[in-house]
Amino acid sequence: MKYDRANIDTDRIDKLKNKYKRTVIRDNRVDQLLNSSKLAYNEEKAIREGYNVLSSHEDVSAESLKNSLFSHNTDIIFRRIKNKFLEIYDFDVSDLTFVNDRTMGNVNAFFETDLIFFDRMLEDTLHAFFIVTLIWAKYFDDENLYGRFFNYLTTVLYATIVDKSTYNIYDGEYIKREIRQWSSTVNLAVSCQYFCMYFCIAHEVAHKYIAETVDKISAVQEEFKADSIAYDIVLRLMMDEENSDIENKDRELFAYCYLAPMMIFDFWDLLFYTNRVISKTYMIKDNKHPEIKKRKENLFSIPYTDEYDFDSSEGNDVYSAFLDVIDKYKTELLYRAENGTLKEFLNYIKGA
Ligand SMILES: [Zn+2]
Repeated sequence: MKYDRANIDTDRIDKLKNKYKRTVIRDNRVDQLLNSSKLAYNEEKAIREGYNVLSSHEDVSAESLKNSLFSHNTDIIFRRIKNKFLEIYDFDVSDLTFVNDRTMGNVNAFFETDLIFFDRMLEDTLHAFFIVTLIWAKYFDDENLYGRFFNYLTTVLYATIVDKSTYNIYDGEYIKREIRQWSSTVNLAVSCQYFCMYFCIAHEVAHKYIAETVDKISAVQEEFKADSIAYDIVLRLMMDEENSDIENKDRELFAYCYLAPMMIFDFWDLLFYTNRVISKTYMIKDNKHPEIKKRKENLFSIPYTDEYDFDSSEGNDVYSAFLDVIDKYKTELLYRAENGTLKEFLNYIKGA
């Protein structure tokens, strides 16, 4: 079923509240907690702090946290993508080096000759972004909470734009409560984050593929093509998982996150938007990358063809709930910028 925002039924928020209770997507999503923000600098410290937040759960131990770090990480994602390129495109990328650290300190990934770089800050920021937006979606109708969630989201985006850092989302009281309860929405958020990580890494591998197999293509066309190939690779990996009998807790790609690649473009778009409102300046656009709107249109043309067979209905609900949050945030940001309260809040974040 094609995504059409106008055709989403109106009780989708209730659905979102209830849907993900029936399965625990990943018991061991704690690696994300460990990877998040400052914690990642020191693994031992990370495990200790992760344990502090989650120790009330009987099935969490320092050992299980450590195991989780080893079983879910970007090296494994990269390996799975490499294998899929070999299988589908008969393309061998075994000579590519994969680097995942914080040396660049931005929310990006890139490819250069024989190296793919995926910034740790992108991973951490996506984690914070999805946790905030999707938990907000869960409480979307609660008028008492939306101010809080607006503040969390503003803080996440502000930290990314201005401080070039990731806000430690676990500092937020309401967020912490959801995490402690291991709410299904946290599972959903982490699953969307993982889907995006697969997509970004596959996109960079696709650049390598295009560089070696396609001649004469404009930079803009190359981006569209890399997006299409990446989406194809990730959807196929997702269908492999959907059709396998591996346990939910070991899975990383779910059909109800199939529109997560749209969400990462919405995320980048929201960074530009927030920067425009806060600093009243436009970021200078490069000539290499096509407009976000067009990249999303290109992606939307892919998943409904005969090559892919999966249930898209839950994913459509999730994306609509997500977009409701994004719209509300945008309206509220403008409103607060106009009435002066945004400035007060930013000063508060800055500790002024
Ligand atoms: Zn690219």
